[in-house]
Amino acid sequence: MCRWPQFEVAGLPLTARVLNLVHERGRVARAEVTSTLGAARGATGDAIAELVGLGLVRVCEPVRAGTRGRPSPTLAAEPGGPVAIAAQVTPIGLDLAVVGLHAEIVARHRLALPDHIDDPARVIGALARAVTRLAEESGRACVGVGVGVAGMVRDEDGLVRSAIHLGWRDVPAGDLLAAAVPAGLPVVVRRDAALVAMAEHRHGAGRDAGTLLVVTGHHWGVGGALLGGGVSPHGTHLEVGHLVLDPRGRRCACGQRGCLETYTDGNALLRAAGLPESADSAASERLLDSARAGEPAALAAAEEVARRLGIGLTSLVNIINPDRVVCTGTFAALLALARDDVLHPSRRSVVATLDNPHTTPGAVEDPVLVGAAESVFLPLLRDPRTPLFRTDRPGGGVPAP
Ligand SMILES: [Zn+2]
Repeated sequence: MCRWPQFEVAGLPLTARVLNLVHERGRVARAEVTSTLGAARGATGDAIAELVGLGLVRVCEPVRAGTRGRPSPTLAAEPGGPVAIAAQVTPIGLDLAVVGLHAEIVARHRLALPDHIDDPARVIGALARAVTRLAEESGRACVGVGVGVAGMVRDEDGLVRSAIHLGWRDVPAGDLLAAAVPAGLPVVVRRDAALVAMAEHRHGAGRDAGTLLVVTGHHWGVGGALLGGGVSPHGTHLEVGHLVLDPRGRRCACGQRGCLETYTDGNALLRAAGLPESADSAASERLLDSARAGEPAALAAAEEVARRLGIGLTSLVNIINPDRVVCTGTFAALLALARDDVLHPSRRSVVATLDNPHTTPGAVEDPVLVGAAESVFLPLLRDPRTPLFRTDRPGGGVPAP
């Protein structure tokens, strides 16, 4: 079980708290900054001026007219401000994005590597080239490279201890990538489920939750993470995909039988519909589209998988007692299509019924990429004076002025 520090805004310098407010809300009235942070107007003005000088925040003049009193200017992230390069390694390739403050996706890039994904050196080489090109093309200062991997990842150095869907074992992905990108560009490699939880907690359906359980359905496998003060001040990764529902069930890639993910991931959806398994996530997306369109066999498959998800969720809720459950990926689709089927098993449980957490779909469109970006924005969000790197200059990364 790994842990990563939860981000605490309270106690940070005023410049950082203002930047975090803009990062979370996108646009925020200057008067609201003062009232939300409880700071003096003069001190807030100094903090805003410093953030403008650092190229992080822009002050937009008010556009409202005819209102009583003086309308307040609005703060927003500087459009040419720093970006993160975010990446997700999936069994079929690399999904990348250039992400600005307020989780703004500036550019996307996909790289198919279906025949080479089990060759970590080749994948990380391709990743480093794509990251370097995207950072250069952005023309903006870069806070670093955040990478999500579906598997067991050591937070300290990004060692991928095991990623069964990639065929990786003990791959020093963080070190290999750091050596292959421009010198000095920060690199963070994390488990994808942890990044999803960070993204939903900061920008999505997990905002302000006390104890937040995030469960993610992928085409290939299932992930989960726990964030919040109810359990510990740290986030905790959960191997929810390998919660055993039936010890005599289908064999799982982890070595057990009858794991939750063998009943609920995208390939389980295909099997429930009587379709062959597929290496391509588009197959389960098409099935979910058919279910949304009301196609009876697809809808029946979604409902069956939703009931199995509900059985797993009930056990998780009974053990963890979260006050909010956020379902992302294919699980968000199942919740939208068959909410009663997902929630029905918990209604038979006295414990789950009494505590009754709010169960909701995720609200971040690309949560792994947004969380990956978040993981490398953290130093800047803690200290807006953190030196940034520019990779759009000859000679590689040099500190930005
Ligand atoms: Zn398993």
